[in-house]
Amino acid sequence: MDANNRDNRCARRRALKVFGAAALLSSLGALFGASPAHAKTSKAGAAYRGSPNGRQRCANCSWFEAPSGCGVVKGPVSANGWCNLWG
Ligand code: SF4
Repeated sequence: MDANNRDNRCARRRALKVFGAAALLSSLGALFGASPAHAKTSKAGAAYRGSPNGRQRCANCSWFEAPSGCGVVKGPVSANGWCNLWG
């Protein structure tokens, strides 16, 4: 076996370890339902309020899920509400 082949095998082994670790973490997240990508913030944490902030309101926020959902804040929200995660 030459040095080039040995380097390629080592690189393949490292890649397999990384992919294996990623798959394991993904499985654990799904098992415990604790994937940070899907975690929502509390209303208090986002400073949610039931009134708009100028022209900004839930109804024109990209996170709003009609009729009363939000992709990043827990619980029902009003189309006329607002929070500091507006975007
Ligand atoms: S303003 Fe806040 S609560 Fe309303 S939809 Fe956007 S992120 Fe959700």
